[in-house]
Amino acid sequence: MGELAADKHVKFILSVEKRKDDFESVAMEHLRMNGAYWGLTTLDLLGKLDSVDLHEVVSWIMSCQHESGGFGGNVGHDPHILYTLSAVQVLALFDKLDVLDVDKVTNYIVSLQNEDGSFSGDIWGEIDTRFSYIAVCCLSLLHRLDKIDVEKAVHYIVSCKNMDGGFGCTPGGESHSGQIFCCVGALAIMGSLHHIDKDLLGWWLCERQVKAGGLNGRPEKLPDVCYSWWVLSSLIMIDRVHWINKEKVVKFILDCQDTENGGISDRPDDAVDVYHTYFGVAGLSLLEYPGLKPIDPAYALPVDVVNKIFIGK
Ligand SMILES: [Zn+2]
Repeated sequence: MGELAADKHVKFILSVEKRKDDFESVAMEHLRMNGAYWGLTTLDLLGKLDSVDLHEVVSWIMSCQHESGGFGGNVGHDPHILYTLSAVQVLALFDKLDVLDVDKVTNYIVSLQNEDGSFSGDIWGEIDTRFSYIAVCCLSLLHRLDKIDVEKAVHYIVSCKNMDGGFGCTPGGESHSGQIFCCVGALAIMGSLHHIDKDLLGWWLCERQVKAGGLNGRPEKLPDVCYSWWVLSSLIMIDRVHWINKEKVVKFILDCQDTENGGISDRPDDAVDVYHTYFGVAGLSLLEYPGLKPIDPAYALPVDVVNKIFIGK
């Protein structure tokens, strides 16, 4: 088995930050905030967050905030709850949450909760359990979880639970690993994991491991490095991660590295990108791969960052 090409991945992430005019960065422009979260969290897990200019990043993030309190994916782009969580997470990485007007961000998120407990992603109203997770995670990081109707938020997520133990994006929606992470993560943060049938869900999640060792998002689909994160984090939160073959997942992720130029792809020999590089490294961190900082499975931030927020050290 190969090893993690950590230095190459650091170089890859830093080079993506600098390339602002090529196709990938233009195509990614509207979600640059998410890209910043993926890239910078990867650097932190690798112990290299100090290779970026903190002040530059913080001032760019704050220039993406709107009057409503929400953040856009880049300067001049509409606010959305997706980018708002990424902005808060990146500020948390740098221990800079104090630059935020916390009430303003809180009011924005609170305004997106609907009567049935669900959350919309923005003023246009699309509803998805992803947005429930984001709202809950974001408010918890800001110590403002009490500002939403937690009971209704839990109730809505539970209403999206399926017979197979998994969760979908709305009631009756098909179970999917990404959606399961969001629902399990939100329930974990709200102290409501007792609503989950851990053995049933654990079984469904373990069946996501294919022969090659990687994990898929749904039955019959190809394995993909990003599902290492969605599936493993969920299994850890419900205490069933020992049900899968960890060594084989590690090997699959390492096989998806570009060992020459850095970066990790979805499957071996595909083109690398920041998204899969983050989920690959984060997945290895969950598997306690040597040399990586541990990551919190519910907040998707390094454990030391989460501890600083909740324990103050
Ligand atoms: Zn993927």
